[in-house]
Amino acid sequence: MEAHQQSVETDSDWVARSLRSVWHPCTQMQHHAQGTDHVPLIAVSHGRGPWLYDHHGDRYLDAISSWWVNLFGHANQRINGALKEQLDMLEHAMLAGFTHEPVIRLSERLSALTQHQLGHAFYASDGASAVEIALKMSFHAWRNMGRTDKQEFVCLKGSYHGETIGALAVTDVALFKDAYGPLLRASRIVMSPDARQAVDGESAEDVARRAAADVQKLFEENGASIAAIIIEPLVQCATGMAMHDPLYLKLVRELCDRHDVHLILDEIAVGCGRTGTFFACEQAGIWPDFLCLSKGISGGYLPLSIVLSREEIYQAFYSADVTRGFLHSHSYTGNPLACRAALATLDIFEEDQVLETNRIRAEKLTRALQPLVNHERISHARQRGMIWAFDAIDAGPGFSRRFFTEATRQELLLRPIGNTIYLMPPYILNDEEIDGLAARTLSVFETTIAGA
Ligand SMILES: *Cc1c(COP(=O)(O)O)cnc(C)c1O
Repeated sequence: MEAHQQSVETDSDWVARSLRSVWHPCTQMQHHAQGTDHVPLIAVSHGRGPWLYDHHGDRYLDAISSWWVNLFGHANQRINGALKEQLDMLEHAMLAGFTHEPVIRLSERLSALTQHQLGHAFYASDGASAVEIALKMSFHAWRNMGRTDKQEFVCLKGSYHGETIGALAVTDVALFKDAYGPLLRASRIVMSPDARQAVDGESAEDVARRAAADVQKLFEENGASIAAIIIEPLVQCATGMAMHDPLYLKLVRELCDRHDVHLILDEIAVGCGRTGTFFACEQAGIWPDFLCLSKGISGGYLPLSIVLSREEIYQAFYSADVTRGFLHSHSYTGNPLACRAALATLDIFEEDQVLETNRIRAEKLTRALQPLVNHERISHARQRGMIWAFDAIDAGPGFSRRFFTEATRQELLLRPIGNTIYLMPPYILNDEEIDGLAARTLSVFETTIAGA
């Protein structure tokens, strides 16, 4: 243990070189220097399956799918094969005035996955851009329909939709938002349906009804000026895996229909089977007007995001007049390599019946996690599909950093959000890895709180 710790502290040249030249995301860089708050920076040399390996040969089980993107492991042979083939055909071509097989096939397959309810796919590279696109499209669609009064957006308490200026405006995570307040356009914030708010015998459904009533009140008073409400369906991930009952989505869908407000579902984190169904909204039996996808859709290989929209939205832009079109573009829109990675990812879903096998995997992991669930310093143990979360009680200052550091010593990549420990593993863990993950998560937790 001691030797391992030291080898991380005096890591190879890679860490020192990275700290000189790479500005790491979502990081106070000083924490990578020495000191009491020290967090090791790990230089990854390669990945295989759920494991990442550093330059010392130490390994880490990637239990959060590398920020929720990696679905079928690192260096997946099937995705690699598809990409190698695509590389020799076409690496990229602009998507204005041109089209290509991977983007057509992917759009058709996504349309089919929505039972052709969301038949028009618009492409970008990252999640935040997909959110920007959905917001702009909603506003512009209303404008094209003569509803220029519809200019406001609604988001949920604790929402996270990305960190560009527009996406941040509909995000409600203080850590990411507060510093930029003066730059952001105000949005309306409604109650979160987070089931942890249940009081005195209230069920998750009751909380969902209460949260929907908050939306109803807002729509009744201000619906005429609201273009859209944006929601992370079933799990608000970045705020700390806040889960809600599907009933909430059903009720909000009805309210949107009644008050002419678009429903934008941000499935960037919860899509692609993460909550147990391919799209989270399927569990509520509804479809949105816009659905944002990114993260897992390319299997964690390449930046790719997609906004799927309904026929009525598409028709609102369809005209002889150029300014009525959606004049938005990104250089890498519809990148063939990224689309091909997505097609290979969808192939794996079909060939391996991933949604079914995940159900079995999830049951096993839930069972293995019982000792952690029952721990006296854990509350609000919750699960949906392939997401597990636990809130640490009296975790002490710097819990997330201390937990992360201890986890790396026990061969785990786990990064709590505040006091919430969560698991979002890739969909490939075998029985041994499932048991190891559960046992080590408990061990890391006990070591971390013992040191508090
Ligand atoms: C990660 C995430 C985003 C932003 O995606 P980026 O690719 O990081 O810009 C947006 N919404 C949700 C729900 C996310 O989890």
